[in-house]
Amino acid sequence: MDKVCAVFGGSRGIGRAVAQLMARKGYRLAVIARNLEGAKAAAGNLGGDHLAFSCDVAKEHDVQNTFEEMEKYLGRVNFLVNAAGINRDSLLVRTKTEDMVSQLHTNLLGSMLTCKAAVRTMIQQQGGSIVNVGSIVGLKGNSGQSVYSASKGGLIGFSRALAKEVARKKIRVNVVAPGFVHTDMTKHLKEEQLKKNIPLGRFGETLEVAHAVVFLLESPYITGHVLVVDGGLQLML
Ligand code: NDP
Repeated sequence: MDKVCAVFGGSRGIGRAVAQLMARKGYRLAVIARNLEGAKAAAGNLGGDHLAFSCDVAKEHDVQNTFEEMEKYLGRVNFLVNAAGINRDSLLVRTKTEDMVSQLHTNLLGSMLTCKAAVRTMIQQQGGSIVNVGSIVGLKGNSGQSVYSASKGGLIGFSRALAKEVARKKIRVNVVAPGFVHTDMTKHLKEEQLKKNIPLGRFGETLEVAHAVVFLLESPYITGHVLVVDGGLQLML
């Protein structure tokens, strides 16, 4: 079976590191983000025969088109990583409804839509593997991140239920739940303050999370698992 891996959110941060690791392992990659130039740059840097696609995961039509295009130009997707995500941190009483909707649509609905499209093609191939990138706050909650935490908590519930639903079809679904990781998403944070609460005393690097994603993608007897990669932060929450 050809190894074709779609990485949504593959142009930057954690998704980009996953794409780098998977390319080194011989997978054919689809690097997907809204900004096509960013996705192209990331795919180009992988070397080899990888392709970039523009897609907003919150839009069903975009997701359907992207799966059609991937099948046409790369072959059927049998590995899926959902690393597209946004945060709009604020106290609930100050959170605009549009920011609630955009976080839920990107982080939760988006992964549901890509999983739905991927599961269809994986059933035809009699197998596949999915990793959704959640967050430690989806398990523990965080003040100022109630909506984001809900989107990630929802993603965990969704992934575990889907794991049960598709296990007989030899499709596995797992979650990686990172703590603080050095990416564009966290560059505005006060790292000096925050790292005092992290037992390992530092933020994580994207490759450290990517290794966990690839481990779950390739572990044939693990499904419905939530792998926390947070430097021990959950011990303190
Ligand atoms: P980055 O901001 O570095 O990258 C986000 C990626 O997602 C980009 O490729 C971006 O490209 C893409 N993206 C965003 N919105 C959409 C959309 N609607 N449709 C398609 N692609 C989209 O984020 P991180 O690498 O930090 O985060 C990756 C995942 O990990 C997210 O789900 C995040 O919630 C989660 N996470 C991150 C943590 C951290 O500390 N960094 C901690 C815990 C979880 P473009 O803008 O071009 O669309």
